[in-house]
Amino acid sequence: MARIGFIGLGNMGGGMAANLAKKGHDVRAFDLSADALDRAKAAGCLPVASAAEAADGAEAIVTMLPAGKHVAEVYDTLFGVASPSAILIDCSTIDVATAKQVAEAAQAKGLAAVDAPVSGGIGAANAGTLTFMVGGSREAFDRAQPILADMGKAVIHAGANGAGQAAKICNNMILGATMIATCEAFVLADKLGLDAQAFYDIASVSSGQSWSMTSYAPLPGIGPDTPADHDYQGGFAAALMLKDLRLAMAAAQDVSADTPMGAKAAERYEAFAAAGQGGLDFSAIIRTLRD
Ligand code: NAD
Repeated sequence: MARIGFIGLGNMGGGMAANLAKKGHDVRAFDLSADALDRAKAAGCLPVASAAEAADGAEAIVTMLPAGKHVAEVYDTLFGVASPSAILIDCSTIDVATAKQVAEAAQAKGLAAVDAPVSGGIGAANAGTLTFMVGGSREAFDRAQPILADMGKAVIHAGANGAGQAAKICNNMILGATMIATCEAFVLADKLGLDAQAFYDIASVSSGQSWSMTSYAPLPGIGPDTPADHDYQGGFAAALMLKDLRLAMAAAQDVSADTPMGAKAAERYEAFAAAGQGGLDFSAIIRTLRD
């Protein structure tokens, strides 16, 4: 079992750190929020007073922070204290450019680093069933893999540093666009007099099938239990989908990639969040098409 520093104990990090403690790791946990520290203590972690204290003597340092600027700031404080044999594992969703920069800065200090963003929401973080997409050298991946496996169901090597973040935003760009396409198909089907259940039964086993359709149907009462069955509470917030789409659009601009469907999805989620709906599950975007 390893000594692990865990920084960022929010909606996602709280459950992830708890799972590491449950697996028997010695988890030194830090967050700016006192409530988060209390919850981590109750979950078997040792709360500490700073990121530096969490990193001191750790074999692995996991970060789960809101955005690139937080990761860059925390990494700056880690560099002075982390043991040269420690591996840095950033599970936050951040921009590809910052992911590459912090990994390069770590390597310049002799530290191994991987970006390891996740697919799966708060439920998967709590249940230990996240999917990790990992960017870094094969050697760094092999070191991070057993720790990530204690928090997830799948750990996949995506490529060099930054490739994990690239995989994450490309995946979520598909998700944002297919959710809107699925929603508009349900709305059109309804206007054409087609029963929603009948359309679901057909599209779920036809070429219109996607995760947004089959596993996350945006209407209540059809398919498996989804946020639509709970008035679009819980699930994956539209504001987080917007964050990922913005990252995807910025990355696309950096490399001159043409992403018209992603751009349209970003525009739709921008408007949805601007209308004060960012806290709802992202499938609630169907309301803007129906109403
Ligand atoms: P969150 O806002 O709930 O948690 C972030 C935590 O980081 C907070 O507790 C905050 O106090 C802490 N923090 C911020 N700056 C800090 C610092 N300098 N030192 C220590 N702690 C600091 O966010 P979340 O929902 O847990 O998401 C974390 C990351 O995971 C984000 O990058 C997000 O995009 C990604 N993500 C979230 C979900 C989801 O469903 N919530 C799903 C996949 C990926």
